[in-house]
Amino acid sequence: KRRNSLNHDDLLSGIIKGDLQALSSGITLLESNRKSDQEEAQKLVNSCLKHSGKSIRVGVTGVPGVGKSTFIEAFGKLVVAKGYKIAVLAVDPSSEKSGGSILGDKTRMNDLSVLENAFIRPSAAGKSLGGVARKTRESIILCEAAGFDFILIETVGVGQSETMVKSMVDFFMLLMLAGAGDELQGIKRGIMEMADALIVTKADGDNLIKARRAKKEYENAIHLFPANENGWIPKTLVASALEQYNIEKTFDTIESFVNHTRINGSFGRNRKQQDKYWLHETITDTLMSNFYSSERLVNEIAVVEKEVIEGRISSFEGAEKLMKIYNHE
Ligand code: GDP
Repeated sequence: KRRNSLNHDDLLSGIIKGDLQALSSGITLLESNRKSDQEEAQKLVNSCLKHSGKSIRVGVTGVPGVGKSTFIEAFGKLVVAKGYKIAVLAVDPSSEKSGGSILGDKTRMNDLSVLENAFIRPSAAGKSLGGVARKTRESIILCEAAGFDFILIETVGVGQSETMVKSMVDFFMLLMLAGAGDELQGIKRGIMEMADALIVTKADGDNLIKARRAKKEYENAIHLFPANENGWIPKTLVASALEQYNIEKTFDTIESFVNHTRINGSFGRNRKQQDKYWLHETITDTLMSNFYSSERLVNEIAVVEKEVIEGRISSFEGAEKLMKIYNHE
């Protein structure tokens, strides 16, 4: 008991002082699946909560190879040069399945990672998307308590993870390649519609003209999207991390988004909606995992599945039957 409470206070005071070692240990605690660690982590998150909320949370997504890490590094260096602190958290829900993190494999952002005011944390892995989401949300709270002004949540553009990241950030940007075959590169329209900024990467050398052309196309596409509730019209940009082209403009775009949404109140409203969303997501997630790991259902699920497949009962009846067993009815 005593050792734990000491740990908690040391960690907390370290985090609040902005000590990166303490922050790192705190996030490791969050990621642990040990029950005692989870209890400690929960205490730590609760203590950090009152010191949180002051950062600008930015989501960054795009297909592998689009230039996310190079862009984030350039952007991060700019943010640090402006006197701010930036944390980069990577989310890679596929890492569990593929047995190794796509994002973690690379030695990434070396120039940024050595800066005192930058913190880079590779992929939060987990058994479920819900688990990853929770760890990421809690990591954001710890980073904010540690005084970070900008928190970037990077995710690889493979589908479901974008929605998750969108629902935990203030500003969401999608990086796109110019002229990589089909116009949308398999990026679903829904993901484009989520973006507050669409950035065509690698706008340098021979690629610049192509990038500008792609930007025009995306700009036209955006006009056809339904208007955002917050009144923000998504911006399209071309940028080159290699030549530091429009990295500052990206920063300015985020700043004007924050001003715009703070003035009309949607910045705070969006965060409240996100909190509500995560409340219910967490409940759903917890109920699901309790259900599927329930002792009482160990054998029953397979039995009912068989009954449903063989047409002896309907899927609805089957679900009801399992729910009744689960609920001791
Ligand atoms: P990620 O998989 O999305 O993180 O992409 P990376 O940042 O690892 O970049 C993929 C490749 O694109 C690397 O070979 C980079 O050197 C290259 N790249 C990234 N940004 C730029 C850029 O601004 N201009 C050019 N020409 N190449 C870039």
